[in-house]
Amino acid sequence: MPVPQSMKAWVLGDPEELTLKTKDVPVPGRSEALVRIDAVAICATDLEILTYGTPALIEGGAPFNKEFTPGHEYMGTIAALGPGVDEFEIGERVTVEIHAGCGQCKRCRMGMYTSCHNYGLNYGDTDKGHRANGFTTNGGFAEYAVNNINTMIRVPATMTDEEATLVVTAGTSMYGLTELGGLVAGESVVVIGPGPIGLLAVAVAKALGASPVILVGTRENRNQIGTKLGADIVINPKEEDVVARIKEITGKGADYVVDCAGNETTVNQAVHMTNRGGKICLAAFPKKAVNFDLGALAVNNIYLYGIRGEGRSATHRAMAFMAEKRFDASLIHTHTFPLEDLPTALRYARERIDDAIKVVVSMRQPTATTDQITEGKSQ
Ligand SMILES: [Zn+2]
Ligand SMILES: [Zn+2]
Repeated sequence: MPVPQSMKAWVLGDPEELTLKTKDVPVPGRSEALVRIDAVAICATDLEILTYGTPALIEGGAPFNKEFTPGHEYMGTIAALGPGVDEFEIGERVTVEIHAGCGQCKRCRMGMYTSCHNYGLNYGDTDKGHRANGFTTNGGFAEYAVNNINTMIRVPATMTDEEATLVVTAGTSMYGLTELGGLVAGESVVVIGPGPIGLLAVAVAKALGASPVILVGTRENRNQIGTKLGADIVINPKEEDVVARIKEITGKGADYVVDCAGNETTVNQAVHMTNRGGKICLAAFPKKAVNFDLGALAVNNIYLYGIRGEGRSATHRAMAFMAEKRFDASLIHTHTFPLEDLPTALRYARERIDDAIKVVVSMRQPTATTDQITEGKSQ
């Protein structure tokens, strides 16, 4: 696969100012590969970075006017290998997770590389080798990106480019439920908020054997997708008392609650719907302080934990579920645009135009799965 010298890449100038520029194609180092990007999904965190800068951190500060290319939920084809890399071959399709971590701090050594203590320290004299593509290093709104081999997951031929971009989202939900939460089959799970992470948390919880899986959401079209992804029960808080209903369904309250909304109402609902000794995963990042019933949490021995990204290779396990078609993540993929139309794609995601959930930028013609190709040939 010939690798050109230069490539097209979107570059962040001032807040919300993206320009399509020509950049040098990056060169992979030790333990790295060059990925030709074939598709990249837009995440709410991309929109945050474009407006506020955080959580991106480039050269120790805000990412503005530093020739930074955002975008982190991408997949593609391996175009070149760094020195000593024999784990992958040129031409293989891969999807990526975001964080490589420094590999040497306390959290990285525990497998919690998304909580790396050297986050963003990958420049100049303090270069710790940390990478979080689209956050602390250049990301996927471009034709090529460099990735650490630990962040790459092989994509089966039966999976489209667009679906493969969703693996990292499913991996984040997986990390919250299994590695951080310790979910086992037969436990009840409530997911509040049918955004991309919430909807795939429903799917992953169901695939892991949780029972029942309950989705709480106000948007009817999204709730319907939640049902298709495995929600046994859907509750619309505009129509019902959520806490009372969940107590009624579960008896003592839910074993696990994943709060993907993170506002005062939902955090308090989460505390009051969780059973004694149960667990709450906070999967949203509230912008301001949230008042909640700490006493109810303490007296009921409820565990509350945050989640930062997709650690402990949870993304690999999410891919195993998706490769086996245990759930159809592509149900949350609603729109596709070419790379040149990134600003339109971002607008669709930000304003939720036409009920947009996951908007994907695709570099190539929409891909057909091998199943579809076979069907086409047999006709
Ligand atoms: Zn994301
Ligand atoms: Zn680290």
